Amino acid sequence: MDHFRPVRGVLHAEGVSLERLAARVGTPTYVYSEATLRRHYRVVDQAFGGAPHLVCYSVKASGNLALLASLARWGSGFDVVSGGELARVLAAGGDPGRTVFAGVGKTEAEMAFALRTGIGMFNVESAEELEALDRVGRRLRRRAPFAIRVNPGVDAGTHRHISTGLPTSKFGVPFEEARRLYTRARRMRGLRARGVDCHIGSQLTRLGPLAAALRQVAGLYRVLRAEGHPLEWLDVGGGLGIRYRDEEPPSPDRWAATVRAATRDTEATVLVEPGRVLVGNAGVLLTRVLYRKRAGGRTLVVVDAGMNDLLRPALYGAEHAIVPVRARRGRSRVVDVVGPVCESTDVLGRDRRLVLPEAGELLAIRGAGAYGMSMASTYNGRPRPAEVLVSGKRARVVRRRERVEDLWRGEAAGR
Ligand SMILES: *Cc1c(COP(=O)(O)O)cnc(C)c1O
Repeated sequence: MDHFRPVRGVLHAEGVSLERLAARVGTPTYVYSEATLRRHYRVVDQAFGGAPHLVCYSVKASGNLALLASLARWGSGFDVVSGGELARVLAAGGDPGRTVFAGVGKTEAEMAFALRTGIGMFNVESAEELEALDRVGRRLRRRAPFAIRVNPGVDAGTHRHISTGLPTSKFGVPFEEARRLYTRARRMRGLRARGVDCHIGSQLTRLGPLAAALRQVAGLYRVLRAEGHPLEWLDVGGGLGIRYRDEEPPSPDRWAATVRAATRDTEATVLVEPGRVLVGNAGVLLTRVLYRKRAGGRTLVVVDAGMNDLLRPALYGAEHAIVPVRARRGRSRVVDVVGPVCESTDVLGRDRRLVLPEAGELLAIRGAGAYGMSMASTYNGRPRPAEVLVSGKRARVVRRRERVEDLWRGEAAGR
């Protein structure tokens, strides 16, 4: 469910016409609907009912301060993968005590920063990282709360670039090793075991692999508790898929039921780290048509957004729905929607049925709220898009469009 709807033939974000908005702030622009984000947050949170749980929004999906501030206000915790993301959470008023820190390559400087803020938990991904965290803890005379991220060795059945639970993945450690690490950590004075963690991948559209992984992870949690480790948090990761075109992902209710069933007899507080399912369909990328042309028997529509603005189609063949902002009558035809970047992979949509738009018309690339702006770059000397947060009839620019001078800030042309 989202709040992007046509009103008298013009696509609106809640009460705001995307045509008017584009005239005001230009294109390309990311537009988020706060009501949609709030609804998704509530649905996920309420799916766990009275069971002890904490929703930790995955900041890497989309990290604008305005989105983080709203989520923090509604009670969300956060999942970060760098010191930079943690700094964002703090800047937005998020609670570091309800924040977990994941990632295979945390530096000791990032660990020290996070520990000083009072981070809820470090999700540790290797034996050497655990030793580094212990050093940092001892240096700061604190015990760093940690979980070992377990790699359950399951195939999440999602795209290979976003699967993280395969035995060959760089993420996490195998079960046997995880158990040894908890035992070793007991003698390390800079550490305090707080939880067990796993995350098997993103854009999950089947629950079987998750259920299989969580049964094992919950088993490990119980064994460790029985051995006297003072665990409280069982972090099951994120990854619930969304509908981009015709996928049929499980509902948040079914996903939560799977998690609850697998973790029921652990007495743990269950942490979930959703990113895409909260923000993916709460955002669109608004773009304007520049030109039409024919090439090799195909019709190309050249737009002013490219792979530097929205990388997912080029990075993993993602298919986003692309719709005209103002509905047009006429015969539809099959076109490729392409960006201006000098790369053959800069195709935002291939083989799309559209009434051929004219130069100047607006298109909305749907489902662009997650891994859109957060992956944007300035490749080809292109300033990154503006971001707008809509709430009812109000549209607020929450990140101004980058200026070209911003692109060489910090560079030195001197001889
Ligand atoms: C990316 C990531 C998530 C969020 O994944 P979504 O598919 O966006 O829900 C959660 N946890 C970890 C550790 C991640 O790296």
